[in-house]
Amino acid sequence: MKIEGGCLCGKVRYSAEADPAFVAVCHCKNCQKGIGSAFATIVALPAPALSVQGDLKTYNDRGDSGRSLYRRFCPECGSSIMDEAEAMPGMVMILSGTLDDASWVKPTLEIFCDSAQPWVNLQGEQRRFPKMPTRG
Ligand SMILES: [Zn+2]
Ligand SMILES: [Zn+2]
Repeated sequence: MKIEGGCLCGKVRYSAEADPAFVAVCHCKNCQKGIGSAFATIVALPAPALSVQGDLKTYNDRGDSGRSLYRRFCPECGSSIMDEAEAMPGMVMILSGTLDDASWVKPTLEIFCDSAQPWVNLQGEQRRFPKMPTRG
């Protein structure tokens, strides 16, 4: 599918022709801080499928695993655009709020539910994990 989006001011644009590997809601405290909202909704894509126009700034965060998590945002308007995790090589996680059309977005999992804000109770069939699910 065709995926397009960008930041609030329009200086950063991205596009991809790819099927998302997964869509997830992340309740971790760092996502809450990083995007200034109650939770993050991420669309995981194969990194080679994504092309980005414009400059992104990167904040080098650490994930729960202690490995690097690169949070990339527009230096002009501050929109959080995407994350890349050392623990997930070859994948890029787009913040769903930056998509031009997010009408198809349907998370299948919620992660780091242990740190979810207490009022958040999302509808849907998502599988819920207290932290990061282990693979397999
Ligand atoms: Zn911008
Ligand atoms: Zn998170």
